[in-house]
Amino acid sequence: MKDIEIYDLATDVISSIAADLNENLYSKINGTLSVCWLRDDKFNASAQSRSSVDEPPCHIVNMYFGLTRQLYRDIEEYCAYIESERDKPIFDTLFGSHHKYKELIPSSFSKAESKENMFISALTWVFFHEIAHLNQEHGHIRSQILQSDNHLIDECNVHKSENLEGKAAAIYHTTEMAADFEAVYICIKELVRHFKGMDLENSIGSFACALSCALYKFHGIKPLNTDSAPKGTHPSAIVRLEHLLPHIWEFFDVAAVQSLGEIKLSRSELVYICELHSVTVSLFWFRKQLLTEEKFSEFLHTRTIDRTGGREYMQTIINTWDEIESEINKNKRFDDPFALLRFTEQYRKLVFETINS
Ligand SMILES: [Zn+2]
Repeated sequence: MKDIEIYDLATDVISSIAADLNENLYSKINGTLSVCWLRDDKFNASAQSRSSVDEPPCHIVNMYFGLTRQLYRDIEEYCAYIESERDKPIFDTLFGSHHKYKELIPSSFSKAESKENMFISALTWVFFHEIAHLNQEHGHIRSQILQSDNHLIDECNVHKSENLEGKAAAIYHTTEMAADFEAVYICIKELVRHFKGMDLENSIGSFACALSCALYKFHGIKPLNTDSAPKGTHPSAIVRLEHLLPHIWEFFDVAAVQSLGEIKLSRSELVYICELHSVTVSLFWFRKQLLTEEKFSEFLHTRTIDRTGGREYMQTIINTWDEIESEINKNKRFDDPFALLRFTEQYRKLVFETINS
C-alpha cells in the first residue's frame, strides 16, 4: 500500500467513526467532536477540550499522518516476519503443544485484509484512547488537581515530561490507564458487533497483535521503567499492555458476550490466544530493533506486580484511581459503566497483600 493510500484509509475510517459519534452521542448533548489531521511525521495523537465540564462538550482529536503510516508499516513488517517463519521454532517450543496453536495470521482473510484489519484495529484503538480522555474529561481532572491550565493531552514528546513525578505523575499515569481501558472496551465491543464465530475468534488474536504493535511502537527501545513510583506522563507501554491483555480475555470470558459473538472459548483458551499473539509481537519488536539477546527479557510482558517495584507502583495507581473515580464519574459525557477502569477485589488483594506481608 502506498503512503497516500494509508492516509486515505485512515481518514475514511476515522471520519466515519467521528460522524457516527457526532450523530449518536455528541448531538444528543449539543456537543461537537472535530478531528484535525496533522501532516507531521510524528508518532503521536492528542486531544483537547475547548469547553468546561459544565458546558456542552467541544472536543477535538488531533491525529498525525506520521502515526498512521508508521502503524501500517510496522504491521506490514510484522506480517512479513511471521510469514518468514524466522522464529517459528521459538513459537513452536513456547506454544506448539496447545490445541489452539495454528496459524498466526488467519487464512480466513486474505493477506491484504488481515493487514488492513490489524491496522484499523490499532488506529481505532489510538483514536478511542483520545476520545476516552475527552469523555472522562481528563484535562479537567489533571488541571484541577495539579492546578495547571494546560488542557492539552498529548501522547508523545511532552515538553519536560520526564521531570514529572509524585502526585502529578500518579494522576497522569492513572488517567492514561483509564483511557486505555475505555478504548479497549470500545474496540472489543465493536469486534463482537462486526464478527461472529470463527471470524470473531480470529479477530481476538488480531486485535491483541494490533494493540501490541501500537504499544511497542510507543515503547520504542527505552529500558522498561521498573520504578516503584510513577514518573513522567505515561506508564511504560509494556505495563499498559500487561493490563490490557487481561481486559480482553475477561471481556470475552463473559457468557453473554460469547453467546452474542457465537464463540465458545474457555478462559485458558482466551488467555492463550492473547498471550500467543502479543508474545509474537514482543519478539518481532526485539528483532526489529536489533537488540542483543540479554535485552530480550526487558521486552517481554509479564505481570506488572511480579516486577521489582511493580506492586508499589500499582498500589499508587489504584489509590489514585479511588481518589479521582467519583469526579470522573460525575463529569463523564457518555454513560457506559463498563467503559470505566476498575480493579477487581481479587487484583486489589494481590497488589496490597504482599506489600503488607
Ligand atoms: Zn493518553
